[in-house]
Amino acid sequence: MGHQDNEKVVTRFAPSPTGLPHLGTAMYALLNYLYAHQNNGKVLMRSENTDPVRSKPEYEKAIIEGLAWLGIKADKFYRQTDRLEIYKKYITKMIADGTAYISLDTNEKGETRDVVRFKNPNKVITFHDSSRGDISVDTTDLKDFIIARDINSPLYHLTVVVDDHETGVTHIIRGEDGLANTPRQILIQEAIGAKRPIYAHYPFILLPNHIKMGKRNGAKSIQEYQQLGYLPEAIVNFTILLAWHPKDDRELFTIPDLLKEFELERIGKSGAILDEKKLNWLNREYIKKLSKEEIEKNILARLPKKMQNVKLVPLIFERISKWGDVNEMVMAGELDFFLKVPVVDKQKLIYKKTPPEKIKNNLELTIKALGNLAENNFTTEDVKNTLMLIANNLESRGELLHPVRYALSGRDQSPDPFIIASILGKDETITRLQKAI
Ligand code: GLU
Repeated sequence: MGHQDNEKVVTRFAPSPTGLPHLGTAMYALLNYLYAHQNNGKVLMRSENTDPVRSKPEYEKAIIEGLAWLGIKADKFYRQTDRLEIYKKYITKMIADGTAYISLDTNEKGETRDVVRFKNPNKVITFHDSSRGDISVDTTDLKDFIIARDINSPLYHLTVVVDDHETGVTHIIRGEDGLANTPRQILIQEAIGAKRPIYAHYPFILLPNHIKMGKRNGAKSIQEYQQLGYLPEAIVNFTILLAWHPKDDRELFTIPDLLKEFELERIGKSGAILDEKKLNWLNREYIKKLSKEEIEKNILARLPKKMQNVKLVPLIFERISKWGDVNEMVMAGELDFFLKVPVVDKQKLIYKKTPPEKIKNNLELTIKALGNLAENNFTTEDVKNTLMLIANNLESRGELLHPVRYALSGRDQSPDPFIIASILGKDETITRLQKAI
């Protein structure tokens, strides 16, 4: 996707502030950000807020903040409602030039009003899209389309073209829905004497049911990902891999990596499916890179006051891919063993068909062996070595590991008994085992 060397690259992302930003918004901003920065250019953000009913300032704010959280910031910000005089100037000139005209229009209700129509030259337009090649369209089918409701109320195609022209945009990188708009926009460019930018359309993100992801069909907002405890690095990484395929099998890319390695030419033609498992995997890769202190801080912050104990951190960290999983573990009761002595159901202590006497004996052996460990050195490793020494001599290890786990946690499914024991400490562990006996 070459451009002339003497021309400074200017890209833009132009979201309509009609909803919270989602991964599609992130993709839009990210691709434009990367391409501009890779080429020593500028990236503009334009809030396409001319729809007075659907556009809301709080959405605009959420888009800016959500993208900033991901590390994406525009060099300059525009808002279309601040530019109405500019559009008016163009509409007036187009009417004077004869490339647009006022015509009477009848709406669905049968009411008539004056609108501004574009005078279609009815010709074949050929444009180049970086991943699809040359595309030719006969514009006759587009008729004399409306470009403004009246001289003060420009419509979408006109504002896009005027803004891109006025702000010196050289590259339009946008979602594939933009492809259908390109012929009309090129006609308007030609009418106002604007230079044609270079076009690159990227594919939609698809939901697991193969439906195009969008605000209204279950796309999570960036803010939701933030609240669920994903790291911005993981969201960026996940998003870019939905559109772009690196040459090798590498999967981890931060913005600084992408500034070196991303190639707009390698954007695919078909949309990738949003796979949350992959996102969770990526997120875990990024949280694993954090310092011990950082991990502790984030986990403890999501625990109820009474559970805020660093002893729980390694056990929790093993089992999460995002910080929000901590809240889920708490809600599922997986950490209750830490606060309250479990109610033990005798029947559940039994492992398969092991006779109760044998279970009891194993628990006694366990207590005796653990009694020999030092209170202040009751580590997971020590507990494990001690218990395995006994368990390995049994017919089956489960005869010992199962009742110990259950006696300590009161749960069939729980972290391994060694970790639980080391968290509880020697006294509490032995107390619980005695109770079970
Ligand atoms: N405002 C449009 C949207 O949010 C994008 C316009 C464009 O990139 O040309 O879909």
